Amino acid sequence: MASNQLWDVIVVGAGSAGLPLAIRAAERGARVLQIEADYRVGGTLFWSSGQISAAGTRLQKQQGIEDSPDEHYRDAQKIAHGKIDPVVLRLMVDNAAATIDWLMDLGFQPAPGTPVAGEAHEAYSTRRYLWGTNKAVSILDTLKPVHDRLVKEGRIDLRLQHRLVGLLSDARGAVTGVRASTPNGEFEFSGRNVVLASGGYAANPELWAELTPNAPLCSYVNPYSRGDGLVAARELGAPVDGSENFLATFAGVLDDPKDPRSGAFLALSPGSRKIWEIFVDTQGKRFMQEDHPSIDYRERALLRQPGTRMNIVFDHGILQNAATITLDPTDVYRAKFGKHHAFVKARTLDELARKLGVPAPALRKTVADYNRAVDRQQDAQWGKAFLIRRIEKAPFYAIKAQGITVLSPAGLKVDAQLRVLGAKSRPIPNLYAAGEVLGFSRTSGNAFVGGLSLTPALTFGKLLGEKLLKW
Ligand SMILES: Cc1cc2nc3c(=O)[nH]c(=O)nc-3n(C[C@H](O)[C@H](O)[C@H](O)COP(=O)(O)OP(=O)(O)OC[C@H]3O[C@@H](n4cnc5c(N)ncnc54)[C@H](O)[C@@H]3O)c2cc1C
Repeated sequence: MASNQLWDVIVVGAGSAGLPLAIRAAERGARVLQIEADYRVGGTLFWSSGQISAAGTRLQKQQGIEDSPDEHYRDAQKIAHGKIDPVVLRLMVDNAAATIDWLMDLGFQPAPGTPVAGEAHEAYSTRRYLWGTNKAVSILDTLKPVHDRLVKEGRIDLRLQHRLVGLLSDARGAVTGVRASTPNGEFEFSGRNVVLASGGYAANPELWAELTPNAPLCSYVNPYSRGDGLVAARELGAPVDGSENFLATFAGVLDDPKDPRSGAFLALSPGSRKIWEIFVDTQGKRFMQEDHPSIDYRERALLRQPGTRMNIVFDHGILQNAATITLDPTDVYRAKFGKHHAFVKARTLDELARKLGVPAPALRKTVADYNRAVDRQQDAQWGKAFLIRRIEKAPFYAIKAQGITVLSPAGLKVDAQLRVLGAKSRPIPNLYAAGEVLGFSRTSGNAFVGGLSLTPALTFGKLLGEKLLKW
């Protein structure tokens, strides 16, 4: 069924990029249709840690921090090994401060002590990294009342449970609208401009296997991150690239071995929990300094392991004494050993090796070498600093851990006006994109640069809302 109305802007998705986009476009008098597959707005804001970064914010100035977009640009490329799309990064650093100032005008409150230089990722050279007190929900709580009001006033026509299934286009390939599937059937909507703000694809194992064949999927993401925007743009000839920059976060377990979307994090950051255990590869050998202070070092060491997998090996003494290794503050996880595929328990090291599928002599030698390092208080092989206890008291334990995906690396290529590029890098007329649909690789390169997924999503959404009709 087709609607007769012609919208100025059709926004696909009402998450981190889609909310600011619809708000700013509606505030400028545009006729906005927003289709959202979920039954609610918010998207990945319900999942995300909400860490954002910008140079030249009012908050920085209030705290006497001197910073500039050029320094943000330089720092980001340095951390990301020069792999961020230069056009996209330039647009982002030049406009991110205005986004954060705007959020603060709307009532967003940065957590006490922020901005900082680094937290969970490699540090910037200055304090430009911040978050709210309730992760990304603080951002949602800021945007939603404004969005709700505009919906109520009829300035945003929000259609929930409307899933984009295809883009409409004319004979010259210009986008003219969208096709959406709803509980009441399929509908077509016409628009002068369509913006894909439909997020990543890490909740779609089939598409993941196709777009990111080099990387296993173990994800913790919004279940609506199914890559529909990518598929729709691809049908119009837009290439999808960036999978070579896949990087998994360090690290966790697959809760349900049959569901690659059931990733669950472990507490493995030496800054917040001492690392009592050793990490062992498929050959039964250690492969990294377990408590190396650089997250980039740890992530890359894991990335080199087949399937980004490792075994976290320890003994009963460590289980009893160390702080919990799961993010659950209770110690319920201890009951899982021997009963859950990822939590392994054995009476001897040889039995543990057999259950992990690693060579027993190698594991025995690894543990013996490590125990000698503990005795000497020096780990000559890998330089682990925290050498608190030998691994010697049965039962022995292991956690089958692996990298966790929170971001989709591949995405759509855009120009400096966020127009989606099609065949031969020509813009597809009337089609724009913002957010993770661009791919993590385009906004953050091959490293997790602080805030460089959520900040560009918010910033590009806001920017398109403000500039789309002018552009
Ligand atoms: C656990 C976790 C922690 C993170 N922490 C950080 C962090 O601290 N800092 C950072 O920079 N980044 C972080 N990220 C990444 C960042 O939050 C996301 O990249 C960003 O929020 C994505 O915004 P988006 O608007 O592109 O997608 P989303 O916010 O997911 O919005 C997309 C919307 O589109 C809807 N949609 C999907 N398909 C369709 C369709 N076919 N039709 C209509 N609607 C559709 C979805 O339901 C959703 O509402 C984190 C991600 C996760 C999962």
